[in-house]
Amino acid sequence: MKIAIVGAGIVGAAIAHSLLDEGHEVLILDKEGPGFGPSAGNAGWIAHTDILPIASPKNLRQVPRFLLDPLGPLAIRPAYFPKLLPWLLRFLLAARPEAFERSIQGIGTLQRRALPAWLDRAGKAGLEIHIHRKGGLYAFTDASAFTEARHIANRQAEFGIKVDAIGPEELRQLEPALKDRFVGATFHPDAAHISDPLQLTLALFEAALARGAVFEKAEITNISTGERPALIGRDGFQRVVDRAVIAAGAWSRPLAAALGDKVPLDTERGYNVSFPGMTGLTSRPVGFEGHGFVVTPLESGLRIGGAVEFGGLEAPPNHARTRILYDKAGQFVDGLPAFESGTLWMGFRPSLPDSLPVIGTASRNAHVVYAFGHGHYGMTQSTATGELVADLIADRKPAIDLSLFDPRRF
Ligand SMILES: Cc1cc2nc3c(=O)[nH]c(=O)nc-3n(C[C@H](O)[C@H](O)[C@H](O)COP(=O)(O)OP(=O)(O)OC[C@H]3O[C@@H](n4cnc5c(N)ncnc54)[C@H](O)[C@@H]3O)c2cc1C
Repeated sequence: MKIAIVGAGIVGAAIAHSLLDEGHEVLILDKEGPGFGPSAGNAGWIAHTDILPIASPKNLRQVPRFLLDPLGPLAIRPAYFPKLLPWLLRFLLAARPEAFERSIQGIGTLQRRALPAWLDRAGKAGLEIHIHRKGGLYAFTDASAFTEARHIANRQAEFGIKVDAIGPEELRQLEPALKDRFVGATFHPDAAHISDPLQLTLALFEAALARGAVFEKAEITNISTGERPALIGRDGFQRVVDRAVIAAGAWSRPLAAALGDKVPLDTERGYNVSFPGMTGLTSRPVGFEGHGFVVTPLESGLRIGGAVEFGGLEAPPNHARTRILYDKAGQFVDGLPAFESGTLWMGFRPSLPDSLPVIGTASRNAHVVYAFGHGHYGMTQSTATGELVADLIADRKPAIDLSLFDPRRF
């Protein structure tokens, strides 16, 4: 079959491979080119160890404190608040105990498949050098949060995720650049990180082209409801295919709306600063629990980033936020390079209120498959999503129950 994928981010590139595996003819369309969105600049964690949704009772308790600080780890731009309200209401609903549990099940089920899917894809595509398996750490400054992490570890164990609680001394041995401020850490020996998000996205995309996929630069504005979907773009652009996949990240909402699905997709904007060439400060990614930032030793250089800002897709970045992340990092890590020597970046996480992506067929055209909204874990879940999309296109029973990811679940 001839299949078009809208979006050449990491999710679109991963889907391309899964469809090529099945012998399909693949056309990748992107308004900018490969690796334009958050796939180019994320923190580079294969974060399959994370199973908690953002809408959690714990986070809700912290929201008022966060919102009082306009540069805190979670912020809403005042001008965007009215537009965000419907999303926020759903976010509140998603934090109720039953919904919270559903999100954990959904995230965990997908995360369980994430690392094996990446290792398999990297092996087949000759991209193993991009995957580093040195584990990952979450360092704690707050004793009660560290104690609470034990409960989370029990939940993680349900999904086969290994977690070791370690003390401050062991933490310093693993990461000598960390200051002496931590009560302990959780160590995930199986966690992985990647060489660099842009490098990996481009490498995966190029590998798909080498296998026969074709790329065209085009902004898709509509998709027809016909038996053979027509992808319509600006200036008379039109391609008719047998199947289409929408993997346009945070920009997917209008395309789904055109096919009858009002999906509450918004964006959690995230920030980071990278120091090209700065390697070896830490050996593995480290998250700083309760402080809203992570540090990743990418091959391209050290990256410090995080934060969640609701402000839509149009507002320019506010790098005062990045400066705050860097200053915080300086309180916990020795030897950081000067902020001014770093490269600043902001990216758009494609986020649903329940932290679950949308994976399923369109209401008005069963020949169009959605695969977007992976929020904080798109890089992690991309290859597993590719496998599920291939199942849907082949009309096979998907490897996991997709009802939690249904576009019509809201
Ligand atoms: C600060 C930050 C840190 C993060 N850290 C991690 C991490 O450590 N691990 C992890 O797993 N995830 C992480 N993420 C999340 C991850 O980056 C995203 O979930 C993921 O990149 C989404 O990929 P995607 O392919 O769905 O979307 P995108 O990367 O946004 O790609 C979508 C593509 O679609 C194209 N497009 C959009 N609209 C159209 C249209 N109408 N026509 C044609 N093309 C279109 C765009 O140009 C873009 O290239 C992080 C995100 C941020 C912001």
